[in-house]
Amino acid sequence: MKKICIYDSKRYDKEYFDKIVESYGFEVDYYETKLTPRTSVLARDHDAIVAFVNDDLSKATIDRLYDNGIRIIALRCAGYNNVDLDAAQGKIRVVRVPDYSPYAVAEHAIAMILTLNRKTHRAYIRTRDFNFSLNSFVGFDMKGKTVGVIGTGKIGRIFINICKGFGMKICAYDPYPIDEPDIEYLSLEELCKKSDIISLHCPLTKDTKHIINEKTISLMKKNAIIVNTSRGALIDSDALLDALLSEKIRGACLDVYEEETDFFYEDMSNEIPKDDTLARLIYMPNVIVTSHQAFLTHEALTNIAETTCNNLRDFFDGKELKNEVFSNNSSKNVK
Ligand code: NAD
Repeated sequence: MKKICIYDSKRYDKEYFDKIVESYGFEVDYYETKLTPRTSVLARDHDAIVAFVNDDLSKATIDRLYDNGIRIIALRCAGYNNVDLDAAQGKIRVVRVPDYSPYAVAEHAIAMILTLNRKTHRAYIRTRDFNFSLNSFVGFDMKGKTVGVIGTGKIGRIFINICKGFGMKICAYDPYPIDEPDIEYLSLEELCKKSDIISLHCPLTKDTKHIINEKTISLMKKNAIIVNTSRGALIDSDALLDALLSEKIRGACLDVYEEETDFFYEDMSNEIPKDDTLARLIYMPNVIVTSHQAFLTHEALTNIAETTCNNLRDFFDGKELKNEVFSNNSSKNVK
């Protein structure tokens, strides 16, 4: 039996991992706490840890995990911006789940856009109160509008296909464009100027941090909607809030937030809000915030549990790790 500990685990994680772990010969301890240098001690006497998007995998944590005998970190997510890969190099191997369900994320982005556009979230509340007024619910037709997609990888491409179904025009920005006749690749600046909706589907790297900032926002149309289902720090949140307050853009759909680690996935409803920017964003009638839930479908949770267990089994069996991620300073690199 290999002993695994799963950090930042919720009821739904346990449900999907519990279905399969026994068949892999794994015994699992589920911890609700996030992984931090302090909580890394809980990994002692385990053979592996499983971590998620808001776990702290800084050098301090990695060093302590290593001292506690951990040689493999299995991320149960695609992004790995929270891992100090340089610190892990040569000590602890890191694997991830590269594509558990790009459909889940692309479809959530669409759900948020439709909600913000047609105000169904507010209509639901009104009609429950027998208020059938339509005031301030005027939306726009998606057909004919231009959507600018930043990052045309797995999720971006699925998002594009759905948008095509609405009859939207597509433009995109990606330093690694794909050969697709229906996508008009533009510079980032041109995309910002041209798009009615801008949707982020690129990873968080040093090049993409605050890719949406005061300057790029200043190029956008007055009716632009910004959609972020990727990583919070792609957007400079204070610049976004300024733009919303001064009505420079139409609205924002945010599944992720720059400083989400302290809030997302927790019930904070009895706490005094500690983050003014987040509180003001949530308060705006033209902003929708969801709690990093774009991945949350049955299919994605099934794939996450299976791929994570496969990654760990391959490590324990000494096999090649096809989902391994490497530091930029490593000779083995991934894009
Ligand atoms: P992917 O690797 O398939 O695609 C990413 C694309 O971004 C690639 O085409 C790449 O060339 C492009 N890119 C890289 N640098 C860029 C830059 N500077 N500007 C523009 N484009 C750039 O990844 P994916 O599976 O499509 O996932 C995209 C992101 O979605 C992930 O990095 C992750 O952060 C996020 N994500 C969020 C959730 C969620 O629940 N909200 C779930 C899964 C993934």
